[in-house]
Amino acid sequence: MKILSVIGARPQFVKAAVVSAKIARTPGLEDVLVHTGQHFDANMSQLFFEEMGLRKPDYYLGVHSLPHEAMVQQMQEQMVEIVEKERPDWVLVYGDTDSTLAGARAAHACGVKLCHVEAGLRSFNTQMQEEFNRIQTDRISDLLCVPTEVAVENLRREGVDLCKVVLTGDVMKDAAYVFAPLARKPQTDIPDKFVLCTLHRAENTDNPDVLKELMLSLELIAEFVPVVLPLHPRTKNKLNEIAYPFDTSRLMFIDPVGYLEMLYLLNHCALVLTDSGGVQKEAYFAHKYCLTLRKETEWVELCARGYNHLLGHNHVDIVTTTRNFLEMPPVFSDDLYGDGHAARKIVQALLQL
Ligand code: UDP
Repeated sequence: MKILSVIGARPQFVKAAVVSAKIARTPGLEDVLVHTGQHFDANMSQLFFEEMGLRKPDYYLGVHSLPHEAMVQQMQEQMVEIVEKERPDWVLVYGDTDSTLAGARAAHACGVKLCHVEAGLRSFNTQMQEEFNRIQTDRISDLLCVPTEVAVENLRREGVDLCKVVLTGDVMKDAAYVFAPLARKPQTDIPDKFVLCTLHRAENTDNPDVLKELMLSLELIAEFVPVVLPLHPRTKNKLNEIAYPFDTSRLMFIDPVGYLEMLYLLNHCALVLTDSGGVQKEAYFAHKYCLTLRKETEWVELCARGYNHLLGHNHVDIVTTTRNFLEMPPVFSDDLYGDGHAARKIVQALLQL
């Protein structure tokens, strides 16, 4: 059986590192890997292939830095040609990026079965591009591999045939377990006690007022605890546009790190502040409280249990809550997001359907 996997953005490299490895180890399965090129900086792409042992893609499309519709269109056109040539049994897509939607539409156009990994998640924020991408992808998928009961319920409410839905758990939990022993310290000096922050969602970076409010929050936090901020290229560009002074002594801006360095930072930080989807869960895997710089999240079970708090953009809320959470002893259980064998369940589902 031939599976054509579509990746293109950083979180998809992490997910594919466990799923493609499982496909490669399964007798009778062949994996064709397509990298759309959506993330292309060496430390947002190549580094992940090197560190996580993800093999070189069979196809590299080189499509990036375009508006949403144009990007999806260009990726889709190239992928239709590849799907026609390879005639896989399945196209497999991950998450909610433009690469996800393009791969899904290419499979649909070619009449090839589509598997969506990380299906069923909803933020219910219709302004988010990611929300559009995931809903469109779910609607045309033949197999929906979902990480949580809440995701099953979301799909049920939308009228999706539950015969197509498999609760696999979350592949990022697999990745966190598999790569934990390889975690390594970044080459930069990292303080003993620090807050780890990642920031890249369009709703936070593309509105200068919101971005300035968030940077003010981080600067105020850095007055009582160092803040380490691996800077996403989009955020860096937007900070350049507002002429943000990077030479501030308070915030530790570092280049984006590889996944193994990120695991180290997650394991050693005092607290996580993020607007990332993946990092919210990884904070939980590392038993760190997470304050989410958004008004909603897809990972609602973390909030329900008090591991994650939604803070939005207001600097008073962010600074006060950070101060309070730094004092809280971590009390965590490990029962969310499956048993760390989501990749195995995804492959079983592909073989059975
Ligand atoms: N990540 C990383 N280096 C960084 C920042 C994030 O390896 O400097 C990893 C992070 O650990 C997670 C993934 O990238 O596995 C999340 O990607 P991102 O936040 O870009 O996307 P999202 O999860 O929000 O879709």
